[in-house]
Amino acid sequence: MTNSSSGSPQAHDLAEQVVAAMRQHYSPGYPRAFEVWYAHLSGEMPALSMAMQAVIAASNGEVGAADIDTLYEKFVSTDRLSRQAERTSLQVLAEIESMMALVDRALSSSEQYHGRLCAMSEEVPPSADRQKLREWVEALVLSTREEVARKTQLEGQLRESAHEIRNLREALESTRAEALTDPLTGLANRRHFEEMLQKAIDQATLRREPFALVMADIDFFKHFNDMHGHLTGDQVLRLVARTMKDKFKDKAIITRFGGEEFAIILPEADVVAGKFGAETVRQALLTRELVKRSTNESLGRITISLGVSMYRRGDTASSIVERADNALLQAKRDGRNRTVTEDAVQDAAKVA
Ligand code: GH3
Ligand code: MG
Ligand code: MG
Repeated sequence: MTNSSSGSPQAHDLAEQVVAAMRQHYSPGYPRAFEVWYAHLSGEMPALSMAMQAVIAASNGEVGAADIDTLYEKFVSTDRLSRQAERTSLQVLAEIESMMALVDRALSSSEQYHGRLCAMSEEVPPSADRQKLREWVEALVLSTREEVARKTQLEGQLRESAHEIRNLREALESTRAEALTDPLTGLANRRHFEEMLQKAIDQATLRREPFALVMADIDFFKHFNDMHGHLTGDQVLRLVARTMKDKFKDKAIITRFGGEEFAIILPEADVVAGKFGAETVRQALLTRELVKRSTNESLGRITISLGVSMYRRGDTASSIVERADNALLQAKRDGRNRTVTEDAVQDAAKVA
C-alpha cells in the first residue's frame, strides 16, 4: 500500500494553500477570489501581498467579497501582462478549481468512511457469534479497500493536476519575465519600474524606512545618435545599463524608464546616499572612452545627468518621480554631467 491516505503530495502545496487560505479567511468561492489568493500566495505580486496582509491585519482575518474585489481591481486586473498570460492564468484557475473539487471529494469520501467506521464500531457483534463477527470483519475490510482505492485514484488525478499547474506556472513566469524586461539592456522595463516603485512605497510606509529614487538621462544623446548612428547609440545604452549594474549590484532596482532615461530605486537610502550612488555611476562613465570596435575610432565620452528624490510620508509614485525629474531637469539646466538633489531644486526655486 502507498501512503495514499496520508494526504496530497507536496507538489500540491500552492493549490492547497489557496484552498486553505480561502476557507480560513472566509473568502467567497468565486473565480476572482481564487485568482487574488493565487496571486498573493504565489508571491508573484508583492504589492498585492502587502495589501492583502494589511487587509488581514485590519479585519481580524476576514477577507470578504468587497476586499477581494478591491484587491482584484487594484492589482490583478491592472497587472494583466498579456493575452497569453491571461489565458494561462485562466487555465491555472480551471486547474485549481478542478483540484478543489478533487480535494472536496477526498474530504467527503473520508467523512463517509469515518461515518461508516463509527457506525460499525457501535455494532460489534458478540465474540461468541463467529459467523456475525466474520461478516462484520469482511464488511470492514471491504469498506477500507474501497476507501484506499478511491484515495489512490484521487491521488493520481491530483498528481496530474499538480503537474499541469506547474507547467502552466512556468509558462506564466516566463511570459511575465519577458513582459517586464527591456530587451535592449536586459534591465527591468517601465512597467516593472512602476510595480517596484509601488512596492517600495508600500514598504516605506509600513516600515517607516526611506528610499531614494534616481532618474538619469544621457546628455546630448540625440547628437550622439546623429553623429555615430542609432546602432552605436544602442551600444551606449547597453554600456550605461552595464555600468549601473556593476556599481549597484543587487543593492538597487535599476530600470530603463524609457528612451535614454533610467530610473534607480535605492532601498533604505536617503537623499545623501542616493546622490552618492548617482555620482558613482556618473564618475564611472566619465572614465570610459568609447571606442568603435569595427574601426577603433574614438567616440569620446558620454556623460549623464541625474536627479535624486527621497520618499516622504504621503508620497505617491508620481509625486516622488516628479521630484526626481525636476532635479534632473535642474541638472540639465545647470550644465549637464552632474547630480542634483530635490532639495537643491527647492533651494533654487526659493532664491529665484
Ligand atoms: P539632453 O542632454 O537634453 O537629454 O539631450 P538629448 O539629446 O539626450 O535629449 P533628447 O530628448 O533631445 O533626445 C533623446 C534621444 O535619445 C533621441 C532618441 O533618438 C534617443 N533614443 C531614445 N531611445 C533610443 C534607443 O533605444 N536607441 C538609441 N540609439 N537612441 C535612442
Ligand atoms: Mg531624455
Ligand atoms: Mg538625454
